[in-house]
Amino acid sequence: MKKISLLGATGSIGTQTLDVIKHHSDQFSLIAMSVGRNINLALDQINMFKPSIVSVMTQEDAQKLQLQISDEIKVVYGEEGLIEVAANNEADILVNAVIGSVGLAPTLKAIEAGKTIAIANKETLVTAGHIVTDAAKKHQVPLLPVDSEHSAIFQALNGESSSEVDRLILTASGGSFRDKTRDELNGVTVEEALNHPNWSMGAKITIDSATMMNKGLEVIEAHWLFDIPYDNIDVVLHKESIIHSMVEFVDRSVIAQLGTPDMKVPIQYALTYPNRLEASNSERLNLWEIGTLNFSKLDTERYRCMKFAYEAGRIGGTMPTVLNAANEEAVAAFLDGKITFLDIEDQIEQALERHEKINHPTLDVIKEVDRETRKFIHSLRN
Ligand code: NDP
Ligand code: MG
Repeated sequence: MKKISLLGATGSIGTQTLDVIKHHSDQFSLIAMSVGRNINLALDQINMFKPSIVSVMTQEDAQKLQLQISDEIKVVYGEEGLIEVAANNEADILVNAVIGSVGLAPTLKAIEAGKTIAIANKETLVTAGHIVTDAAKKHQVPLLPVDSEHSAIFQALNGESSSEVDRLILTASGGSFRDKTRDELNGVTVEEALNHPNWSMGAKITIDSATMMNKGLEVIEAHWLFDIPYDNIDVVLHKESIIHSMVEFVDRSVIAQLGTPDMKVPIQYALTYPNRLEASNSERLNLWEIGTLNFSKLDTERYRCMKFAYEAGRIGGTMPTVLNAANEEAVAAFLDGKITFLDIEDQIEQALERHEKINHPTLDVIKEVDRETRKFIHSLRN
């Protein structure tokens, strides 16, 4: 029986993780979980999975929740609460499905406590990839990808060393606006942006897919997870999202991983690795029904966020922290109706241009640059 702690239980990845745990309840049990503000859904989840510890965002919600559940379940809150859930004594594995760089501190504490990490929370790897991967090496903790592209690469690599890898090829669906020209992106609405053609995901990552920042963050995520230079990471547009990514080896053999677009598959693989279990209710891939798979080259003028991400990754130091924090704040402002879709990339560009890179940043430096960048993005609206 693997004992799981789960950050972000009420989210898109979180609820699908619980589906997998429920389907294989003879293999997995939920020990600890965190939610943000969705206390109603959390109550249902607590009643079904009976974790011993639950974290919520605020003290007020913690008090409210504790009144509605057994005293035997401990309720905690805030960043300390996330850490308590992540590094919980009893758990074997942490599934980090929280959104944003708030996932960084709990991930590091879980690594220090020797937990296996199943990581969906890409912002943590983008903002502090060197710190997270160094800590995982030092504590000999596996970092298992949940993001579908990285799970595909992980499966294609099958333990082969990076010296045999020539290139990683990440596939990108192109997001909600893939058929629009740059001019047509003027004035697009939040509702249009939230309408992803292939995947049903949380709001922030759906906007990131529309701006292509999601793929940019994934390039940085791949760099850290697989220790491959940016020059050897390519992105190809593939609108069907059937090939989840590929590895080209030095002998020119290319191995791809395929499947229907369903996050339960990579989530479950991270939980069962190195083994496989029968799927819960994921659809079988029928290539004869799909017929054609399309591929095309990515235009980095059309998708400027991709260009920013490659540049920030290559420059390194605190640049990816600025990229990520600026993106998180600009996307939140767009979702709130405060800025336009194209303002997102303009604001990120401004944040990157004004920042003076700090090399080899410590955790404290990263936190400070993250805070300062968010303040700058806010100031653009005043
Ligand atoms: P969602 O927005 O659906 O869920 C986010 C979860 O985090 C919710 O449980 C939410 O709580 C909680 N949360 C949000 N803000 C905070 C905070 N400040 N403190 C504590 N908890 C918080 O996100 P997704 O599931 O879509 O994405 C999660 C991560 O996985 C992201 O990093 C994303 O990039 C990555 N990912 C997602 C994929 C997908 O298919 N969705 C695919 C690949 C990667 P509540 O709702 O209760 O407020
Ligand atoms: Mg992905």
